[in-house]
Amino acid sequence: MPGFQGRPMRSALGGPRVLLRRLREVMAEPVSAQDRLDKIVVLIAANMVAEVCSVYVLRVDGTLELYATEGLNRSAVHLTVMRIDEGLVGTVAREAEPISLSNAQAHPAFSYRPETGEEIYHSFLGVPILRAGNTLGVLVVQNRAHRSYTEEEIEALQTTAMVLAEIIASGELTALALPGAEPAARRPLHLTGSALSEGIGLGHVVLHEPRIEVTKVIADDVPAELDRVDHAVQTLRASIDIMLEDEGVARVGEHREILEAYRMFAHDRGWINRMREAVMTGLTAEGAVERVQSDTRARMLRMTDPYLRERMHDLDDLANRLLRQLTGRAGGPEKMALPDNAIIVARNMSPAALLDYDRTRIRGLVLEEGAATSHLTIVARALNIAAVGHIENIVGLVDAGDPIIVDGVSGEVHVRPPTDVEGVYVEKVRFRAKRLEQYAALRDVPTVTKDGVAIDLHLNAGLLVDLPHIDETGASGIGLFRTELQFMIASAFPRTNEQLKLYRAVLDAADGRPVVFRTLDIGGDKVLPYMRAIEEENPALGWRAIRLGLDRPGLLRSQVRALLRAANGRELRLIFPMVAAVEEFDKARHIVERELTHLRRHGHGLPERVLVGVMLEVPSLLFQLDALFERIDFASVGSNDLVQFLFAADRGNPRVADRFDPLSPPALNALKTIADAAERHGKQVTLCGELASRPLEALALAAIGYRKLSLSPASYGPVKAMFLDLDLGAVSALVKPLLNGEAYIPSLRPHLKAFAETTGLPL
Ligand code: PEP
Ligand code: MG
Repeated sequence: MPGFQGRPMRSALGGPRVLLRRLREVMAEPVSAQDRLDKIVVLIAANMVAEVCSVYVLRVDGTLELYATEGLNRSAVHLTVMRIDEGLVGTVAREAEPISLSNAQAHPAFSYRPETGEEIYHSFLGVPILRAGNTLGVLVVQNRAHRSYTEEEIEALQTTAMVLAEIIASGELTALALPGAEPAARRPLHLTGSALSEGIGLGHVVLHEPRIEVTKVIADDVPAELDRVDHAVQTLRASIDIMLEDEGVARVGEHREILEAYRMFAHDRGWINRMREAVMTGLTAEGAVERVQSDTRARMLRMTDPYLRERMHDLDDLANRLLRQLTGRAGGPEKMALPDNAIIVARNMSPAALLDYDRTRIRGLVLEEGAATSHLTIVARALNIAAVGHIENIVGLVDAGDPIIVDGVSGEVHVRPPTDVEGVYVEKVRFRAKRLEQYAALRDVPTVTKDGVAIDLHLNAGLLVDLPHIDETGASGIGLFRTELQFMIASAFPRTNEQLKLYRAVLDAADGRPVVFRTLDIGGDKVLPYMRAIEEENPALGWRAIRLGLDRPGLLRSQVRALLRAANGRELRLIFPMVAAVEEFDKARHIVERELTHLRRHGHGLPERVLVGVMLEVPSLLFQLDALFERIDFASVGSNDLVQFLFAADRGNPRVADRFDPLSPPALNALKTIADAAERHGKQVTLCGELASRPLEALALAAIGYRKLSLSPASYGPVKAMFLDLDLGAVSALVKPLLNGEAYIPSLRPHLKAFAETTGLPL
């Protein structure tokens, strides 16, 4: 290989492997951080046959500081500071890509710093110091001669940068920094996403999928490490093939698509060659996987195409599988004991996975994905866990054990918070605890507005963990029991007996208060892990809920039977989800009647009475309300779906979910039409979507005629406190002309907010 001025680099100076071994020795020496860096730059310069080697560290203020140099003026160390948009070093940091130039001064980005004395050096090779795709600094070598650095040299310098990344990430350089100019690697981060579940959690990061810690990155025996890479890749390919052949994997659908993508990547020569090349520079197989993945992440994090960004997650998964293979932990991430005050950080997770953790130790949840009405969110709320979603790349930005604060009220997350921020949050937690005590004190106060209107507040529930909330809040009952949650967290279809046990427990806990059970609402975003997924163009509009129930009546029948038996001697209230036409209700009711007859014939105990209703959540029902109310015993409005369908805006898609305001006249008029029809027919109607759980929205619902709301347990106190202070007559008078008005108004929200402010309503 032609090296500097024709000398073969590797044979002359031992090449990158010898360098890595020497670096390992320096890493183990008991010297100061500065001495260690100084020794490292000397070693690198000698090994690369370069006159200059410098380390620049990215600081919390976003600038790059020269931390060590061999070859430039030593007096410039800790004095030379450049902006990230400045010079070649800044470009390397920003782009997270190497830059190699034989005539650096001719490059438009070149910026001359007289204090360094670098004007005599012509060639420049800079590589980013990366960790999990994030830039921590820049490593540079320079030569006087117009030298073209070879691919191997660039590769070797990148590998060396990995060792520096470990030093920077360890925090040992912080002692060398001035206050406010510490290395950015461990800097506090203030991130904003969307609030998913109310509450504030202070604690320490637990990665839901822990990174495999690579402890040995420097190879002792390179050919053996190459064999290990090849072997691990072979095993990975075989395991993907087995997964694809697995009968349990749907033939179509997302799961299969992901596996197909994995197979494609696992056979990608480029990916495998990059790992082999990294091993050739002296890394272990694990070190090589980590380095290649860090480079890939760095590139992909800078892409804006959401499809390509998604592929980054596939490659992360694949790299993790390889690492597990190499470290002998192929069985998947093992479960570890949670520390106290755990904040779980994940890209996303299933509701079942959240329930698997020791609830008493979890203080919060932070997700890269997540949606306000997703089932994971619903479970987090049921468990009273503060949760924030849409925090981009959070998994790559934190380390296990980092201090972290989750603010599920504002949607903010503070990683490694400074002490003053932590102090503010400790105070907030104290304040919230006091407020919760105040809400608890309202437990036995009837929910009646200041002008004497009674509002009936119920709870939304779906799991056993929800049940204690009935007594804690003093709610009137359960306004919506989402039976599918039990199915979603199970690993196989719950047997009729298991269903029976749960429904009985719910009725026992309600202790005579009404409970509205909704039959299985699966399909759409509600996926059962053990049920074959059907590929549909628009799953939310597809074969789901009652549609599936009527086409596969076996499932619905067995559930209805479990419900009827559980209610033996008590009242049973049942609703069907996603009814879009009156005859669907007729058919579903017929199934209930057949099951009643069946149980009677076989001498089973029967409910004292059975009331049957529908979820009003498909807009078509708005135009069949009279026919519908003539048939049903009661109705429940599912505003989450109704609003999604009304505005054609996917409730699970953060780009559009909050685009249209449910307090706008079209939404409120739709909801009012339903409340009016219920009143005309003398039938009860409850609103059980998330709208009822927000005080301002609950205020609007009462103003248009709703007297029964069903909400999440955490919202019970705030919504009740609002009603106790409300003059309902006054707000109804305000709302009426705004809804009927001639003048166009986009939303009633500002009007209602102003009303709340002037009347001192607690929101
Ligand atoms: C709704 O759609 O408003 C509702 C309450 O049901 P889910 O959120 O379970 O779809
Ligand atoms: Mg719904």
